[in-house]
Amino acid sequence: MERTYLIRTFGCQMNEHDSERIAGQLDGDGMTAAASVEEAGVVVFNTCAIRENADNRLYGNLGHLKPLKDRNPDMRIVVAGCLAQKDQARIQARAPWVDVVVGTHALPRLLELLRAAEADGPQMDVREYTEVFPSAFPAVRRDDFRAWVSIAPGCDNACTFCIVPLVRGPQRSRAVGDILAEVQGLANRGVVEVTLLGQNVNTYGRDLTVPGSSPRPLFAELLRRVGAVEGIRRVRFTSPHPHDFTPDVIDAMAETPTVCEHIHFPLQSGSDRVLKAMQRSYRRDRYLGWLERIRTAIPGIAVSTDVIVGFPGETEADFADTLEVVERAGFDSAYMFQYSPRPGTRAAGFDEQVPKPVVQERFDRLMALQEAVSLRLAQVQLGRSVEVLVEGAGKRGVASQGRTRTNRIVHLGGQHDPGTFLEIRIIEATAHHLRGEVQAAVEAVGIRATV
Ligand code: SF4
Repeated sequence: MERTYLIRTFGCQMNEHDSERIAGQLDGDGMTAAASVEEAGVVVFNTCAIRENADNRLYGNLGHLKPLKDRNPDMRIVVAGCLAQKDQARIQARAPWVDVVVGTHALPRLLELLRAAEADGPQMDVREYTEVFPSAFPAVRRDDFRAWVSIAPGCDNACTFCIVPLVRGPQRSRAVGDILAEVQGLANRGVVEVTLLGQNVNTYGRDLTVPGSSPRPLFAELLRRVGAVEGIRRVRFTSPHPHDFTPDVIDAMAETPTVCEHIHFPLQSGSDRVLKAMQRSYRRDRYLGWLERIRTAIPGIAVSTDVIVGFPGETEADFADTLEVVERAGFDSAYMFQYSPRPGTRAAGFDEQVPKPVVQERFDRLMALQEAVSLRLAQVQLGRSVEVLVEGAGKRGVASQGRTRTNRIVHLGGQHDPGTFLEIRIIEATAHHLRGEVQAAVEAVGIRATV
């Protein structure tokens, strides 16, 4: 009988990439992807602990599976990822029909745990330390032409709103040679764009021992070397931390033609008082100073950010500071979040939680400001010719969609093959996407965007 699996992924790109590794292990064991939960022999929930009500959603999903599992006791249910690492034995206490709980550091043991569950009943591995990087296993990638590459899971910071250090542990950098070999392997299989993933890419390498030199951040060097891999035409990365940012990274970005003109640079708040309470060890002037240096070195670079509204103790004056910085920074796009306490974080225990209606009202104001800024900056693109990498069909009936080097989504008429590069003239601009018409195919590597 055919053995099948289905993976449901929640949360960030790191989780999406972990799911590709989970699929790689299951495929390698002879399983195939199922179209629905009903047809799946193994169902994996790869969970996120950051989103609000993440645990309620997980238990809701597990509750829906219970009748299926009752009818089909051979079905195996796996809870993986950050919530597995955080809630550990509580998961099987609340949902005893779960067969395997596998934390963020134990993913490479998934098949072993499934076999043990077969023989001996429910299993759990939530070890605290990564011994084998999931990258050592094959991946079933979402696309043939682009790929995520994990460079340093974990984080050594302690932002008071964030659960990541608890569930992912301290930073562990992969060896440069491993990363380059993975990128070269991807390029050999036709991948043209890679996104380097780390919680704090700037400190990549700080925990590696390099013969003949003391440990130091190696991100700039890595960027140059990944950017030079033959066949790779676009390099992206996420996320840098404004505190750990260094000038050599700007130089590497500016001098490596394949590194795209986009940076995701998390602000979180424009108030120094709130940044301090968040334990984000930079201040607004330093943040804006970095932006200026980046924009001077890489003209036309697009900048996106994250902003949290309503952090405990945020006053109207603090929020006004955020509005001011958002206006001055001129972000092309922003992920805006309404603060809500996440169990396990320090900020969840802070006094002065801001009432929900106040958070909502501030959020609406910030959103309106950012929409106006995004639209203004998008309209600057009108009439320009840019290189677009086609991603496939867009949402809501859009025939094709692609992405500029500056990470702007471009809607296109007609069908175009995913993974091809086109030169596009921008004919329409909204706050969230552009529309363009095709001018020509693009063959040359590393064409700098005109924006
Ligand atoms: S830098 Fe801060 S927000 Fe980012 S993962 Fe680390 S603790 Fe979380």
